[in-house]
Amino acid sequence: MNPRYGPPDALRSPRYAGVKTFARCPLVEEPEDVDVAVLGIPFDTATTNRPGARFGPEAIRSASIALRPYNAAQRAQVFGRLSVADLGDVEVTPGNAERTVAQIADRLEPIVRSGARPLCLGGDHLVVLGELRAQAAVHGPVGVVLLDAHADVWDEYCGERYYHGSPFRRALEEGIIDPARSFLAGMRGPLYGPDDEAMPGELGFEAISTEDLVTISYKEYAERVRARVGDGPLFLSFDIDVLDPAFAPGTGTPEAGGLSTREALGYVRALRGLRFGGYDVVEVSPPYDGAGKQTAVAAANVAYELLTLDVLAERP
Ligand code: MN
Ligand code: MN
Repeated sequence: MNPRYGPPDALRSPRYAGVKTFARCPLVEEPEDVDVAVLGIPFDTATTNRPGARFGPEAIRSASIALRPYNAAQRAQVFGRLSVADLGDVEVTPGNAERTVAQIADRLEPIVRSGARPLCLGGDHLVVLGELRAQAAVHGPVGVVLLDAHADVWDEYCGERYYHGSPFRRALEEGIIDPARSFLAGMRGPLYGPDDEAMPGELGFEAISTEDLVTISYKEYAERVRARVGDGPLFLSFDIDVLDPAFAPGTGTPEAGGLSTREALGYVRALRGLRFGGYDVVEVSPPYDGAGKQTAVAAANVAYELLTLDVLAERP
């Protein structure tokens, strides 16, 4: 049976035509007959440095129109097998981080319960806390695979406990993630002190820096992730700042010395076979992007690789 939703045939109408939904997939309200539900989360007031990620979903959708149905690198038919729809943007409250996290969880939980996998476009990284609440409400505590320049396990910033550097610590406190089944990679950049570097490990996570990540192959990375996450519910979060600012300048907290776009795609592709309950691409801040919108293009292609992982996932 053909999936209900997917992009129109680009050989009949050019890809730049039409309203800008993710990959030109139909905009629908309900997750019925949807395998992967793409949603924007236009929220950025939990950002500590450069704002603008509220415009991330719009920029990623615009860049995503150029995606084609077949993933040659993975030899996978992405569109045509799964039903993929754009469910629009989650309602958020600018300036109120805690309320927004609750709004995100409320919107996503019925989608997760329907069996669809949400693929969320951020938004600053605090939004993942709402996504994880929805996942855990349906599946129980989830293992997290994170690619990010930051581990995002800080406690507070200027007295605020809910900001884009704390979502995984809050999630840990809420019991909605399992650090023993989580693998964080790509950390780098100056820290407040040596305690910062030890923090993920002390909280029970496994974390490796960009410097260590680039010394191992894609295959070895995937083997280490698999060994860590085992069986059980999983979530994949991709912070675009894991890329070097040369490749992704349009982000809130850039750190020098990051991955190339090609390397990042390689690490994501290596995770084929793993089954995730949800995904996100966060921290795209279009006001700081280049004229060619390289950050948004990278983010759209990462989202495409996440969709491909969903196609290739071993599902019962
Ligand atoms: Mn982050
Ligand atoms: Mn980050």
